[in-house]
Amino acid sequence: KNSVLVIGAGLAGVEAAYQLSKRNIPVELAEMRPLRSSPAHHTDLFAELVCSNSFRAANVENAVGLLKEEMRRLDSLIMQGADKHRVPAGGALAVDRTSFSQWITDKMTNNPFITIVHEEVTTIPTDRLCIIATGPLTDGAMAEQIQQLTGEAYFHFHDAAAPIVTFDSLDMTKIYRAARYNKGGADYLNCPFTKDEYEIFWKNLITAECAELHEFEKDDTVFEGCMPIEVMAGRGMETMRFGPLKPVGLPLPETQEIPYAVVQLRQDNSKGTLYNIVGFQTHLKFPEQKRVFSLIPGLEKAEFVRYGVMHRNSYINSPAVLLPTLQYKENPYLFFAGQLTGVEGYLESAAMGLLAGINAAQLYMNKDCIRFSSQTAIGGLSHYISHHPNTNFQPMNINFGIIEPLGVKKKMKKKEKNMFLAQRALQEIDTIKGKI
Ligand code: FAD
Repeated sequence: KNSVLVIGAGLAGVEAAYQLSKRNIPVELAEMRPLRSSPAHHTDLFAELVCSNSFRAANVENAVGLLKEEMRRLDSLIMQGADKHRVPAGGALAVDRTSFSQWITDKMTNNPFITIVHEEVTTIPTDRLCIIATGPLTDGAMAEQIQQLTGEAYFHFHDAAAPIVTFDSLDMTKIYRAARYNKGGADYLNCPFTKDEYEIFWKNLITAECAELHEFEKDDTVFEGCMPIEVMAGRGMETMRFGPLKPVGLPLPETQEIPYAVVQLRQDNSKGTLYNIVGFQTHLKFPEQKRVFSLIPGLEKAEFVRYGVMHRNSYINSPAVLLPTLQYKENPYLFFAGQLTGVEGYLESAAMGLLAGINAAQLYMNKDCIRFSSQTAIGGLSHYISHHPNTNFQPMNINFGIIEPLGVKKKMKKKEKNMFLAQRALQEIDTIKGKI
């Protein structure tokens, strides 16, 4: 067919459709609502914000602020809508959710290059350019199709992620590198507890406040083998010491004594700028995670780039199946976009729609696909999801830990360093913008 099929008119799908249409490319945009809805959507509008009305921090010294500015410069429809329908929210960009989604819906409906089809797409076409942007609650026939395409093991229905912290924010005077029984080098960072420290940590953990589960997530049984750390702690003070906090085989380097308990941090990206807290998948509220996990020795000032979550979230194992252009490795005419690719968040999902839209347009025009380097926020995300080394790939928010470091030795304040990173990223965006 002559048009590009975009499946799903969520944040990613509308952004992709807009990027194609502004390049005069005909688009068929398929959306199953109102015929069928997800358990989280409540309206028939496109780009519905299913929960918060915030797009998070606005300034570019913050990674999500940089992502917004990159998207603005690449003429993002989601950013146009967000800026137009902004409501006061301090340093954050929040929107009037109804007028935002109504405006986006009108933009799609009145676009001469876009044909809206209200149907649930149940097969993935092989004879045309297609972008799959069916979101984190993809299920039914489409989920089966994606599973068949990628292989069962490459499609996840749940997110059970431990928090991720930046290496720079750790107190390495308290932490030591070692692998249990010296097996496999010294890959882990180990945070040793004294008995007193452990008891304080345990008491805080069992009394910390948990997040409310969505109604549709309450009867999920899938997490049995992957217990939240606070539930394990609730079984008794010693339980964690025989589970993820067991200290055996991890002697302190100076005294060779075995600590009372040890929390291990595992490298999370190839650059070694991010570490996840092993076994700490959790339902705790985000501020509670910060308060309680900062009691772990060495994590007192830890910067959390992603908090632990356990919720329903469909996503593909992108490192195995996607290129950084968001093309499916085995079929370059098939793209994935949005949260389905393993990014997390409204903006991140829309950014992956923008990238898929630009690249589908490039292919349509017989041009090379664009690769943003990981010096940019968009490239940092697309590189993270397509190159993640960890077998346990979990979705990721934008943060400076996944953007290429500056590579200068000079000690700089965080704000100053982030400003340089942002300037460098925006320069690359402006250069790419001139070419597409
Ligand atoms: P969606 O916006 O969900 O869009 C997917 C679209 O595809 C939907 O319109 C759906 O109806 C349609 N569709 C699905 N299957 C088919 C099919 N087979 N055929 C045709 N159409 C189909 N992120 C934040 O930043 N802040 C939050 O507060 C937040 N809260 C969240 C709360 C919940 C319950 C969930 C599940 C996620 C939340 N997220 C949040 C994460 C994420 O940012 C949003 O889910 C975001 O909407 C993802 O964008 P998307 O375009 O990938 O998917």
